Amino acid sequence: MYKTYPFTLEKLPYAYDALEGVIDARTMEIHHGKHHQAYVDNLNKALVEKEELQKITLDELLLSEIDVVKNNAGGVWNHDFFWKCMTGPVDGGHIGEKLTGELEKAFGGVEGFMEKFEAAALSRFGSGWAWLVKDKAGRLEVISTSNQDNPLREGKTPILALDVWEHAYYLKYQNKRAEYVKAWWEVANWDFVETNL
Ligand code: MN
Repeated sequence: MYKTYPFTLEKLPYAYDALEGVIDARTMEIHHGKHHQAYVDNLNKALVEKEELQKITLDELLLSEIDVVKNNAGGVWNHDFFWKCMTGPVDGGHIGEKLTGELEKAFGGVEGFMEKFEAAALSRFGSGWAWLVKDKAGRLEVISTSNQDNPLREGKTPILALDVWEHAYYLKYQNKRAEYVKAWWEVANWDFVETNL
């Protein structure tokens, strides 16, 4: 993402209650309005006296070796992206032909992809993300990252992201991350995913 300092909170592309049934409005309100906002505020704070970093893009800030910059830039980027990976109302979703073909090539099918992605989401210890990414050779791959680390740090381009921090699901699902991950497919925005290929 090519935006630069000072950062502002991106608007959600739907209402807080748009994902109700899978993700409740209260969770969305706190996740966007408090957690995402805090990453924006803390990134701005971290850059306030770093003039050389105020000119570079969010994509470049992700690669920083300064922890507070890397972590908060990741928090901003990852959430901007995550909101677009979802859509409501809950209708089961539909995966287009092009994406289906790519998933077949890489994972043997949509189901094979989903199994891998769920395993990545569940095996991430503590806080982090599950990702569908494209590597430099253009191959699709499922990975997970810890905290707010972004795949661009490994030279991989995000295609789809799932937030598995407890703040993403705890109110509705408590400790049951597996139930959240399974239910989450219902709000995945497959049109957006396909445009990222
Ligand atoms: Mn989050």
